[in-house]
Amino acid sequence: MDTPADIATAAVALKAGGLVILPTETVYGLAADAGNAHAVAKVYEAKGRPAFNPLIAHVADVAAARRLAVFDDRAEELAAAFWPGPLTLVLPVADTAAVCDLARAGLDTVAVRSPAHPVAHALLAAFGGPLVAPSANSSGRPSPTTFADAMAETGSAAAATLDGGPCQIGLESTVVALLDRPRLLRPGAVTRSQIEALVGPLAEAEADAKRSPGRLARHYAPNLPLRLNVEDPRADEVWLGFGRHGGAGFNLSADGDLAEAAANLFAYLRAADLSLGAAGIAVAPIPDTGLGEAINDRLRRAAGFVG
Ligand code: AMP
Ligand code: MG
Repeated sequence: MDTPADIATAAVALKAGGLVILPTETVYGLAADAGNAHAVAKVYEAKGRPAFNPLIAHVADVAAARRLAVFDDRAEELAAAFWPGPLTLVLPVADTAAVCDLARAGLDTVAVRSPAHPVAHALLAAFGGPLVAPSANSSGRPSPTTFADAMAETGSAAAATLDGGPCQIGLESTVVALLDRPRLLRPGAVTRSQIEALVGPLAEAEADAKRSPGRLARHYAPNLPLRLNVEDPRADEVWLGFGRHGGAGFNLSADGDLAEAAANLFAYLRAADLSLGAAGIAVAPIPDTGLGEAINDRLRRAAGFVG
């Protein structure tokens, strides 16, 4: 675990324009000063990420978020209910310097989130400004949910690294745009029904795809081909089971617990991908309710279907 000295070292590295491997409750991030275009460019370079994909500005609290983005009543309500936590809000930008144009991909909007992980929180407090922190994987690979996976993906690009243990949630944050009608840009650990209870029905992202350029169809991809909703795997497939579908291979959750399955998803996809002699990965059906919507979204992307 990290000491206050590790946090201070990482904050100094960020001030100098360096990158930091950062644990959050969702997945491991590759963090940089959101206001420093050179530092943000290093993040895109390290990830091999398309530069039109805007990044999330991570902040310590809602007061810091209000300095970056224009908050309306709906934003206030969602932040009060779910921050710190795995919900990102896309809002009109208020300060175009604090989160540079490159981090926003030139949009007049900004994505903001206050993460709950104590290490992320300590780093944001020590740094004193917004940090971009996209998932610490190379573009197109599953997000890292352990320190070791993050190091293997982009550790060589980092000036400092923080180990916060395995990520509790294991899926990227829910992304909601509050520009006109509330829109679900990316399902995540805060579920559709939790958000709709506060701001009413969520419109879909597809009708407004330009607002969410991060929704590339193939995004979280293992090397082996992936088959979804499989009841009966072939002999040459590695099996990713769920609940009573468990057998040889891996089981995302023997108890059929969606939160456990989410936390295991990316690590098990990585492990299954390394199975010697396997021709593919077969995944059991996952119920599409609650957190299952986010799990199925990531699985469809990993399988190469348009989300
Ligand atoms: P990541 O940093 O990998 O968790 O991905 C960031 C997600 O937030 C992507 O899906 C982006 O497209 C989305 N995002 C970030 N900023 C904006 C924005 N200004 N408008 C719409 N979507 C955004
Ligand atoms: Mg990512």
